Amino acid sequence: MAENYVVSAIKYRPQHFNTVVGQSHITTTLKNAIKTDQLAHSFLFCGPRGVGKTTCARILAKTINCTNRTEDAEACDVCPSCISFKENTSFNVHELDAASNNSVDDIRDLIDQVRFAPQGGSKYKVYIIDEVHMLTTQAFNAFLKTLEEPPSYAIFILATTEKHKILPTILSRCQIFDFNRITTKDTVEHLQEICVKENIESEKDALHLIAQKSEGCMRDALSIMDKIASFSNDKITYTSTVENLNILDYDYYFKMIESLMMQDMVGVMLLFDEINNKGFEGDMFLNGLTEHFRNLLMCKDARVAKLMDLPDNIKAKYYTQANQVSNAYIINGISITNQSEIGFKQSRNKRLHVELALIKLNYLSNAIQVLSDEDGSLLKKKS
Ligand SMILES: [Zn+2]
Repeated sequence: MAENYVVSAIKYRPQHFNTVVGQSHITTTLKNAIKTDQLAHSFLFCGPRGVGKTTCARILAKTINCTNRTEDAEACDVCPSCISFKENTSFNVHELDAASNNSVDDIRDLIDQVRFAPQGGSKYKVYIIDEVHMLTTQAFNAFLKTLEEPPSYAIFILATTEKHKILPTILSRCQIFDFNRITTKDTVEHLQEICVKENIESEKDALHLIAQKSEGCMRDALSIMDKIASFSNDKITYTSTVENLNILDYDYYFKMIESLMMQDMVGVMLLFDEINNKGFEGDMFLNGLTEHFRNLLMCKDARVAKLMDLPDNIKAKYYTQANQVSNAYIINGISITNQSEIGFKQSRNKRLHVELALIKLNYLSNAIQVLSDEDGSLLKKKS
């Protein structure tokens, strides 16, 4: 690793509105407010962690004080204000992390500063308060007065992952922006761009897995990618990613269903033994198998099939397998794996517990057959 190695989440932190990923509904609104000079005094940025709230707050702080903005309301990065912002020497932007500075005194310090007008010919003084829901009630109340009657130059940007914990009196005084979880597609595209810039070879399926694992949090996605890139000498392959993330390859589930459909008890047991030997916990396997069934069911109808958050080649495999498995089997299968997952913690012999579920699944087709035959004969009797 190079001496001046900088993690991607910091190196590629967006510096302008147009490079923020997956939040265009917010960046467009903010840019329009800047263009028309109709800025609110207090903003509340809400949303899951790692989706760009603090990043957008910083961009907004930089841009509104930039003296040489582009036509598209982006900061110039070269004016004195932009430079002091970049070098972290600006007296007009203050950040407070309410997770660690949540007392009434911390807020009083901040309020005291608000009284002084911005320096260096800047128009605004910006206060970014991160994790604002962590403020004590007293601190909130002390802050409220300033929020109600802020000086004309003061802008407050509050950020929180837990909007429901913010007092209604604060909510009503803020312009609220709800940040989205970043979609898998957007995350994959962003990771791909960075890989190209960093000369990292990457397979799209691998990036897809990383995006899925990070569940919409770009910061997590980037740090996982950094980790795998350094572990695999800048070649992010599907195999190295599966190994690194400790994910059971989709192929195991496809093979498992194949064996179950053929009622190949020997094949099923040997395959589970292989999975076990790879160090995968039984409950993780059961959970994965439930999800596999769920995906097979999704394939049965094009309207819900689009909810499958998977790379195209793997989706194609699901469509093929879905044709070979009946709805009745899938629904009963989900019930068996789900029940087994619930009982997993209490079971004395974890391995046997999972094997019993697999035995049930192996003979499930027979059971369904018998039931449907009985139904058939009942119907005949009735008629
Ligand atoms: Zn500037």
